[in-house]
Amino acid sequence: MTYKIYKDVLFSIMGFSKSFYPKEFSALLYLSENIIEEIYFLPLTVSNENSAVLRLDMSPMIFSLKGSVHSHPSGYGGPSRADLHFFLGKDVNIIAYHPFGVEDYKAYNQKGEPIFLEVILRKRNKK
Ligand SMILES: [Zn+2]
Repeated sequence: MTYKIYKDVLFSIMGFSKSFYPKEFSALLYLSENIIEEIYFLPLTVSNENSAVLRLDMSPMIFSLKGSVHSHPSGYGGPSRADLHFFLGKDVNIIAYHPFGVEDYKAYNQKGEPIFLEVILRKRNKK
């Protein structure tokens, strides 16, 4: 399956990554079928220079939150050992890396293998 992400969601990811810098930004991703629709911030997320801790028990929508995103202020887009553990059970995992330009990200499946993300435009609401 090819996963898709709305361009505005990708822009938001880069915006959050920049505003959290030099700290790490971390959130879950809400998927509708194979499309990444929204960023979901968990309550009580703890962030410091080295890690961001998600309180998965605080999530009311856990079953639709099949993706994750976090930033690498280091500028390296590869997953760490801890990342690989965290990816398990999530269909798509994005790492945004410094300097957080629109193409400064990588996506991985739950095994930590690189996957392609198709960037699409959100359809306007019909009136
Ligand atoms: Zn990481």
